[in-house]
Amino acid sequence: MEEKKIPEEKTERSLNFIEEIIEEDLRNNVNEGRVHTRFPPEPNGYLHIGHAKSICLNFGLGKKYNGKTNLRFDDTNPVKEDVEYVDSIMEDVRWLGFDWEDRLFYASDYFEQLYEYAIILIRKGKAYVCDMSAEEISETRGTPSRPGKESQSRTRSEEENFDLFNRMRAGEFPDGSRVLRAKIDMASPNMQMRDPVIYRILHATHHRTGDKWCIYPMYDFAHGQSDSIERITHSICTLEFEVHRPLYDWFIREIGIYAPRQIEFARLNVTYTVMSKRKLLELVQEGYVNGWDDPRMPTICGLRRRGFTPGSIRNFADTIGVAKRDNVIDVNLLEFCIREDLNKKSNRIMAVLNPVKVILDNYPDDQIEELESVNNPEDESKGKRKVPFSKTIFIERDDFMEDPPNKFFRLAPGREVRLKAAYIIRCESVVKDPKTDEIAEIHCTYDPQTKSGMPDSNRKVKGTLHWVSEKQAVTAEIRLYDRLFTKENPEDIEEGKTYKDYLNPDSLKVITAMIEPSVKNARISDKYQFERIGYFCVDKDSTPQNLVFNRVVPLKDSWSKAEKVK
Ligand code: ATP
Ligand code: MG
Repeated sequence: MEEKKIPEEKTERSLNFIEEIIEEDLRNNVNEGRVHTRFPPEPNGYLHIGHAKSICLNFGLGKKYNGKTNLRFDDTNPVKEDVEYVDSIMEDVRWLGFDWEDRLFYASDYFEQLYEYAIILIRKGKAYVCDMSAEEISETRGTPSRPGKESQSRTRSEEENFDLFNRMRAGEFPDGSRVLRAKIDMASPNMQMRDPVIYRILHATHHRTGDKWCIYPMYDFAHGQSDSIERITHSICTLEFEVHRPLYDWFIREIGIYAPRQIEFARLNVTYTVMSKRKLLELVQEGYVNGWDDPRMPTICGLRRRGFTPGSIRNFADTIGVAKRDNVIDVNLLEFCIREDLNKKSNRIMAVLNPVKVILDNYPDDQIEELESVNNPEDESKGKRKVPFSKTIFIERDDFMEDPPNKFFRLAPGREVRLKAAYIIRCESVVKDPKTDEIAEIHCTYDPQTKSGMPDSNRKVKGTLHWVSEKQAVTAEIRLYDRLFTKENPEDIEEGKTYKDYLNPDSLKVITAMIEPSVKNARISDKYQFERIGYFCVDKDSTPQNLVFNRVVPLKDSWSKAEKVK
């Protein structure tokens, strides 16, 4: 891990290096003071948190500098692309809170224009139709230290190239039999410049242009020109495109069109996950997860389903900033951001995940009290709710110890604790299951003078426990998620292994919990803080009869050391 960032107090942050470049351009009146960015996904998978970073960056800059931001699909590969992905990408960008207004574009809208650009290169003697196969092309490319070999097709006349290229378009040749290549320099130290392929034959149906085309531009021949057509001022890319920049500049120059300014920044990597669409697709297709929106996935739809909010992701993107060198961000920071957001927004509720029965021997048998509890101590306007209390309640098994150490401030024989929003109770005895020796019942007495409004309501005891009254408890399925991978960097692979060997077999645990009855009103995607446990979100599988919750994050903030029992 090269770098881990710790969240700081929110102060006015200084400009990042991209903002510095933009502000310098603004000072120099480059592009008449226009700022126009774009988010250019290829619709070949669902977006992940790395894309979210790019979305926040591009749309954020557009907003900050009173500019515009386009959404453009770089859809040059019909074999891997699909409208399902197009739709999901639009949904995710909107959900993150961004708006491309009337600026939704597709590289495929420019196919005719790109074809014309290719003709310009052919007419200038800067592109040729090459008869080599993909293998031959790659074999003759050379290595960074050894020049490549020029193709025999390189000397073709302009007329012949023009004719062959048109016949490629007309469908006269089978897939892979010919390509159009830029004529640059087979000895260039930059491999990208060694006569790269710019058009290939592919008899495939495109999700937008159907069967209109059987030749398709390569990504590198579409991306920069699409930016140019849209008059993007600042083309923000990830670092791997730095070596492509001379090629993009070459195309722009040779074709003679408007030149955007490309700026590269480091991709976002996050610990304990993988971030490439190819790998995420593999996890989906091979059934390691339950779909793209599995809450363990680093996809935006996965995070959404898990219970992350758009604000928490935007805040995360802002906190990590933009870097020029590759780094890995600790996933704890992402979790810190969602905790911070949900702490302010989500109502508290009591749920017991691993119940043990507590019987209050001196409490009237059939009495039920409706006790008031605060919904959100961070937000008074959220009000209070009624929670039923009775003789038999559940507490967490972990909150009781028969033979506790001194520092255990929860329930133990002879010790007192407060029940949240209710009474102080004292443990008198325990009943065990004779077969398993497990504790079956904890017998306590309660002090009637200690509830809110009674004389001893302020009496202090060290621990406060959450609880649920047995009779009114609602059961719910709880999905507890852990890291998808056991290794901090699953792409750092030992010999003979693949990243899939580092999948965490315990990344999903399903349990049944007892929850206070106010949860009956919960609707899909509602989020709660289960007191003392964590943040939970109602899953889309949930029904009023069968509630299902996803754990968003445990309550304990791993940035802070001490475990506090409130
Ligand atoms: P992947 O490698 O995960 O499949 P990609 O780069 O091929 O992603 P694109 O659809 O081409 O995916 O990406 C759209 C935009 O999002 C590009 O501008 C790309 O640079 C940016 N992007 C992709 N991954 C990340 C990341 N991890 N961090 C920041 N930006 C990213
Ligand atoms: Mg890509």
